[in-house]
Amino acid sequence: MNGAPLASAPSMQTLTLLGATGSIGRSTLEVVALHPERYQIFALSAHRNVPLLAQQCVRFNARYAVVSQEREAEQLHQLLRQQGASLPTEVLVGAQALCTVAAHPQVDTVMAAIVGAAGLPSTLAAAQAGKRILLANKEALVMSGSLMMQTVHEHGATLLPVDSEHNAVFQSLPAEPGSLRTKGVARIILTASGGPFLHYPLSALAQVTPAQACKHPNWSMGQKISVDSATMMNKGLELIEACWLFEARPEQVDILIHPQSIIHSLVSYVDGSVLAQLGNPDMRTPIAHALAWPQRIAAGVAPLDLTAVAALHFQPLDLARFPAVRLATEAMNQGGTSPALLNAANEVAVEAFLQGRLRFDQIAWVNEQVLTQVASTAADTLQQILAADELARHQALLCMARISSP
Ligand code: NAD
Ligand code: MG
Repeated sequence: MNGAPLASAPSMQTLTLLGATGSIGRSTLEVVALHPERYQIFALSAHRNVPLLAQQCVRFNARYAVVSQEREAEQLHQLLRQQGASLPTEVLVGAQALCTVAAHPQVDTVMAAIVGAAGLPSTLAAAQAGKRILLANKEALVMSGSLMMQTVHEHGATLLPVDSEHNAVFQSLPAEPGSLRTKGVARIILTASGGPFLHYPLSALAQVTPAQACKHPNWSMGQKISVDSATMMNKGLELIEACWLFEARPEQVDILIHPQSIIHSLVSYVDGSVLAQLGNPDMRTPIAHALAWPQRIAAGVAPLDLTAVAALHFQPLDLARFPAVRLATEAMNQGGTSPALLNAANEVAVEAFLQGRLRFDQIAWVNEQVLTQVASTAADTLQQILAADELARHQALLCMARISSP
């Protein structure tokens, strides 16, 4: 801890929000809007949803807005012009601009909430610039594990987990630096809801539609992470994420099915104590925690009513139903670019499933094929990791082509 008394006046934090129009981005702005005395928005980014980005720029007086393509930039210019000349927002375009606003000297904090590999370079740029990084974009850490953690340490950046499970583990660990062993940690226990198909007949998984897969029982999230929750690749990616964040080996991380998503994760200690973080399933809680840490701020989340919950339910993970967790464990144990290969294959397979080009039960098959067919190499530089990402995407497309033309 920094030793700052909890009652001290908050200082203003300047924020870049990457992925502002997504589920995490919108929730972040809801929390920011509750605390105008603590947070000011420097930059917002979006891929395609320009009308929402324009509204957000106006509402939060953003200095910069970043979009992916010139076409979107033109549309954003037009929408902002309609708001009048007094607006300070400057429009930037492309992946390099994401890095610029993430590393800008005027920025204290970067919320990394882009989905997938597209968020890696800007998250790494924030780490190189020594920023306080609120990490939602788990794929960035899965791909670059060792490089990201080393960059964070070398440049004095602070990496705070927003993913609800890792935020819960972070809250349940002592704040002092040290290894899991010196902290007396026996195991990290990540909870998993099991997604919409926890009890679905295995034989019916082939017919599952994108709409069914995206209908998560407890959380409202973006499409990609919703499908990942249904296959449980999300938990696989989170296992890798936990290993890097908490310096754990895969065998120190357990996965426990808890369909209600009230306990967000637990830490089990050598003396038999188990500490957990509980709350309603609402991402504004971990977002507010990471924004204000080590202080606490209101998140706008309803208080947890344990008498209404009445009973908490748990069951073991069925690895046969959810092969994604096994694949992620293998990728982590293989090391090098293996986690990046698995992540890239999964991004391609999920996209194909969402577009109706791949069956739900074939996602894990594509992932396994790519992980076994593409050789893992060193993952010491961003270039090496992005090259592996490209190779795996190519291989995933080849595997899918083999399915459609047997
Ligand atoms: P989302 O799909 O709702 O939003 C994604 C955001 O990224 C959007 O703003 C979009 O414009 C932007 N984006 C997409 N592709 C891009 C590209 N190629 N270049 C630049 N920007 C791009 O996703 P989400 O659910 O908000 O998830 C964001 C990240 O947070 C993911 O990594 C996810 O795993 C993680 N996460 C989400 C939740 C949740 O509850 N939604 C919980 C934990 C972790
Ligand atoms: Mg999570």
